[in-house]
Amino acid sequence: MAKKVLVLGEARDGALRNVSFEAIAAGKTVAEGGEVVGVLLGDAVSALGEELIQYGADRVVVVEDEKLTQYTSDAYSQAMMAVIESENPEGIVFGHTALGKDLSPKIASKLGTGLISDVTSVEVAGGNVVFTRPIYSGKAFEKKIVVDGIVFASIRPNNIQPLEKDASRTGEVSSVSADIKDLRTIIKEVVRKASEGVDLSEAKVVIAGGRGVKSEEGFEPLKELAGVLGGAIGASRGACDADYCDYSLQIGQTGKVVTPDLYIACGISGAIQHLAGMSNSKVIVAINKDPEANIFNVADYGIVGDLFEVVPMLTEEFKKLKV
Ligand code: FAD
Repeated sequence: MAKKVLVLGEARDGALRNVSFEAIAAGKTVAEGGEVVGVLLGDAVSALGEELIQYGADRVVVVEDEKLTQYTSDAYSQAMMAVIESENPEGIVFGHTALGKDLSPKIASKLGTGLISDVTSVEVAGGNVVFTRPIYSGKAFEKKIVVDGIVFASIRPNNIQPLEKDASRTGEVSSVSADIKDLRTIIKEVVRKASEGVDLSEAKVVIAGGRGVKSEEGFEPLKELAGVLGGAIGASRGACDADYCDYSLQIGQTGKVVTPDLYIACGISGAIQHLAGMSNSKVIVAINKDPEANIFNVADYGIVGDLFEVVPMLTEEFKKLKV
């Protein structure tokens, strides 16, 4: 059945995040030929509406308010509810990002509806929109359909292919006003941690280090490889606990979930809690001195060796390919 579907776009530093385009593609499937309406919340976001349309939204609704400059769940939920009340959608799609993980359950509870979170694929099968999502820390997948009420889902970044950008697509960008009030939190200042390059959760290539890197300096060869491949640095909790790197790099059950095209695990044993955050990567390469390391059980390519010898060799070889 054709549906009107709202898709929340996310912007960072004045640009739309990739997950926004992936969510539009998911929204198209959920809409089953109905209308896909992009939603942008922020203080000056309407200029980004055109790009959402080029990626497949039929039109875009924005709520612009200086109280939306920084994300707070109070302000964003009020703005999103104003859009939902004005649009009356039959479907809603968010990214399963830090923002989406906070906002989507709040909106679902306000609507009294269900939420299918962390979706890795959406398809129409047997007359239903079917959502696939990992369970048991990624060891199995379940398929879900919505039998009643709004079809509400959050999609895991890097899993759903965005539609091709079509610069000739046009559509309306309109605004909805929201009475944003009674905020319990006000963000005074955001102090960004100096980050090195590519955003881990959206990276196509991740080079991750474990306790095997042995020190903070031990990450240097991994950073060189990441530089050559345009990748991001990640880590096991072992490496974070040992203070070799910051916890913001931790991948796994209690860290970030990543699904890059290429994941290179260096000196990581492959504990189940680590696998929960990376085992759905498209190609996994493991470098470990121990041929019995569990990481080899999920790796597509395994290299038994010392990472301090293997990683610089890989960097040199990839450099040659780039010339
Ligand atoms: P180790 O298990 O110590 O492995 C180091 C590996 O490096 C070894 O396999 C070794 O052979 C290899 N090595 C050593 N030197 C070299 C070298 N020179 N070259 C090549 N290989 C070398 N862990 C996470 O990663 N993410 C999580 O989110 C997470 N959440 C957790 C939640 C809970 C509730 C619990 C209990 C644990 C969690 N853990 C998590 C911890 C997890 O159980 C493991 O302890 C951790 O992943 C181990 O990190 P590691 O593989 O880096 O270290």
